[in-house]
Amino acid sequence: MRSLTVEPGIPDSLRLEEFRIPSADRGSVLIRAVALGVCGTDREIIAADYGSAPPGHQRLIIGHESLGVVEEAPTGVSVSPGDIVVGIVRQPDPVPCANCAVGEWDMCRNGQYTEHGIKSLDGFGSEFYRLEPSFVVPVTASLGLAGVLTEPATVVAKAWEHCERIGRRARWNPQSVLVTGAGPVGLLAGLLGKERGLEVHFFDRAHEGPKPELARALGATYHDQSLDAVPGDFDIIMECTGSPPVIGGVLERSAPDGIVCLLGVSGPGGVQSVDLGSLNREVVLDNRVIFGSVNANRRHYEAAITALANANRDWLHRLITRRVSLAEWKQAFVSQTDDIKTIVVFDDAALKKLA
Ligand code: BGC
Repeated sequence: MRSLTVEPGIPDSLRLEEFRIPSADRGSVLIRAVALGVCGTDREIIAADYGSAPPGHQRLIIGHESLGVVEEAPTGVSVSPGDIVVGIVRQPDPVPCANCAVGEWDMCRNGQYTEHGIKSLDGFGSEFYRLEPSFVVPVTASLGLAGVLTEPATVVAKAWEHCERIGRRARWNPQSVLVTGAGPVGLLAGLLGKERGLEVHFFDRAHEGPKPELARALGATYHDQSLDAVPGDFDIIMECTGSPPVIGGVLERSAPDGIVCLLGVSGPGGVQSVDLGSLNREVVLDNRVIFGSVNANRRHYEAAITALANANRDWLHRLITRRVSLAEWKQAFVSQTDDIKTIVVFDDAALKKLA
């Protein structure tokens, strides 16, 4: 089987390698890859800014946004051969901490969790991979290729769940959400906002191309000038750029009792001048919350699949702006103007049956 591997810490070390299909000790469910989504985290790993290989190995099989077909599964588990599935990215830490012990590995407290294709665990960028049944999630087959959007949708499903849990500390009747960054995570965050009946606003620097079109098709308002030019305060802000100036700008844009959820992972640097005295006064006097959110547990995978199943299929498919065959894999990892979600197609025949 062919797998995309990288040496974490060495820039541009991505290559396609031949391996044996993993043996059953790696998991009783064997999955044949159909497609793999590429995201900013993969590019960071390739740039040697992030990621680690499994212990004792130099190279990591990359990829965490999966879509596959079950090839083999034991009887009596929740998936059967032929099912369309995605793999859960994070594995609980081995200690386990209080959260990992109860399946809330997205809230791991000791940092010893592992992540397929990212942190110390081989990923899904492989023609075959194995998982234990509890880490395999069946996807609504009618989603077709849009099932590959499940993993980024889980990240926003968790963010929405946590916003709502925080919101319920008092009377909670949000009307509006501002999403900064109209990439795949931002657009999916906006979709889940629309599904909740909220007024959705996007802020992004792109003036043309698919982002403004997709935002408008969702019935959202798209702002592309400056954050200061976006009118009003927002009950919820989902910050999906990880860009320090945008983060600095949104901190003071939530309404009283409002919530700012930070979803973009940024690197060190990006020193900004912030008047912490004024910010603190506003946050305290208005009961505002600023919090970070990462990853997702099984409950969020199920919520994400429901959210995608309720969405307009054409709109979801329009998020997938580039399909690259495994033979042409290099092109998938070079960003192009107007990319939203690029996918690597591992099995064209299976994809045709799905789409
Ligand atoms: C993935 C998450 C992961 C995070 C941090 C993101 O790209 O979608 O599942 O937890 O990176 O490694």
